[in-house]
Amino acid sequence: MAILEIDCPVCGEVLELSAEDRAELNPGDVIVCDSCSAEMEVTRNGEGEDFELELLGILTECPNCGEEFEVTDDLLSAAPVIESADGAAVSLVDCPHCHARIELEFEPDPAEPSVSGR
Ligand SMILES: [Zn+2]
Ligand SMILES: [Zn+2]
Repeated sequence: MAILEIDCPVCGEVLELSAEDRAELNPGDVIVCDSCSAEMEVTRNGEGEDFELELLGILTECPNCGEEFEVTDDLLSAAPVIESADGAAVSLVDCPHCHARIELEFEPDPAEPSVSGR
């Protein structure tokens, strides 16, 4: 049976969709990455490799109030990026529920040289 492999655009995890899975998917349906909980909307579901996804946002849990909310590209581009205590670049977003400021850390860029001790 044909298995379509999709790389998660957020964490790079390979998501496998069997022909059965795909038969149940329609454009507008949402797939959630097992590994990072990113939500992707199916935009095309045709024959063979004719399959496309659009990243919806990353679901994250507020460490302050425990509510989940979606981090979208828009939210991220509006969020200031600061350096956290350990030197990692983090984006500051507001929790839509309790308005706490939350630091979001992303996978470090592999091209970035590692920081040596001073
Ligand atoms: Zn993922
Ligand atoms: Zn909150």
